Amino acid sequence: MPYINRNQVILLFSFFFLLGTSYILAIFYGENLVNEKSVTTEISTKNQAVNSEEKLKIDLTFVKKYFLKEGDTFTNVLRQTNLNENEIDNIISIISKKIDLRKLKVGTIIETYTKSIGDKTIVNEIIIYPDSEKRIYVQKVNNNFIAGEDKKKLFQKLFLHQVEIHNSIYASLKKVGIPDEIIMEFVQLYSFDIDFQRDIRKGNKIKVFFDVYTDSQNEFVKSGKIYFSEIVLDDVSYDLYRFSIEGDEFVEYFNSEGKSATKALMKTPINGARLSSGFGMRKHPILGYNKKHQGVDFAAPTGTPIMAAGTGYIEFVGNNGGAGKYIRIKHMNGYKTSYSHLSKYASGIKKNVKVRQGQVIGYVGNTGMSTGPHLHYEVIFNGKRINPMKMKLPSGKQLKDENLEIFIQEKERIDADMIQISSMN
Ligand SMILES: [Zn+2]
Repeated sequence: MPYINRNQVILLFSFFFLLGTSYILAIFYGENLVNEKSVTTEISTKNQAVNSEEKLKIDLTFVKKYFLKEGDTFTNVLRQTNLNENEIDNIISIISKKIDLRKLKVGTIIETYTKSIGDKTIVNEIIIYPDSEKRIYVQKVNNNFIAGEDKKKLFQKLFLHQVEIHNSIYASLKKVGIPDEIIMEFVQLYSFDIDFQRDIRKGNKIKVFFDVYTDSQNEFVKSGKIYFSEIVLDDVSYDLYRFSIEGDEFVEYFNSEGKSATKALMKTPINGARLSSGFGMRKHPILGYNKKHQGVDFAAPTGTPIMAAGTGYIEFVGNNGGAGKYIRIKHMNGYKTSYSHLSKYASGIKKNVKVRQGQVIGYVGNTGMSTGPHLHYEVIFNGKRINPMKMKLPSGKQLKDENLEIFIQEKERIDADMIQISSMN
């Protein structure tokens, strides 16, 4: 039996019988992506089916799973196997035709499949999973390496949820199984119009119509889009339909009258937070004397993502005295926003970098002069700090003429889809 370093066997370590080998190869190289669960299940089924007389020759296959770390490379991963430098060069040149290896993200999963035949150990397959939908592989066939790629076949599923709010919006939507990405997008859609701390009451209703994508095993792969959403408050309701104006790549959400939801800045650039201190005079918690609070504070756990309140350019990122880790964004029309006491910055956030509205720029922390994890958020207009909760910002565009007609048709199509979905449930 060949010597195997036990530490190397991370994912799977199994004995395969001679007859089982071709069966296993079919699973590994089949159309579907290798799925840890299904492989394990298939192996145990096969072992039961094989009778003891077939235990003549033992083949051993093991899989090692790597998560690409910061500064790590595909070449480093290959060097941890018993491949020689020639083979490594060969594999890299073949796989480079399928994927730009320099663009692999931190956390990318790479699997190496090693097979032992008699006293020989050979790497016979390497798989890169650049995202949840694709796998790029190199296989050894007749002593040559060949590269290929598979895409998961995805299935669209539409969901219509009607939810009554009992605690937070996040918790209420999470409870019925709505994916995080959809919840984030939902919150973002309304953050122009609704102050989530003050406007939402227990018993208010939310409706959201969206899709997700699953694989052939009905496993969730990714969230899709919100097509319609509605919040019914005590006295007013807000409905939004997804729509892109023809020839315009930019997708926007409009209410049933064709008025856009997009506004210049968000009042609440953070999801699920509690407004802990408003704008205006107050006793400073650390300095102890009365001082005008020039922004608003949102209490939230360390690590909660903070979003750019509007599209703009990073004007400042770095330590800023009592503000601790600090970001300031310059927006259009004389507006700036700032974010203080962060625990860390999101990757890629540097001076002069353009950020989109809703993009995560950093994470809540307790740096600088701060008594607990919170975001101190300021809106600056023409050099003067203003109250973000009271700002009156230009509302988005109103669809007219032909665009309005096309929008009404699209709205009616979405409405019809929702009627159909609710009749099926
Ligand atoms: Zn503050």
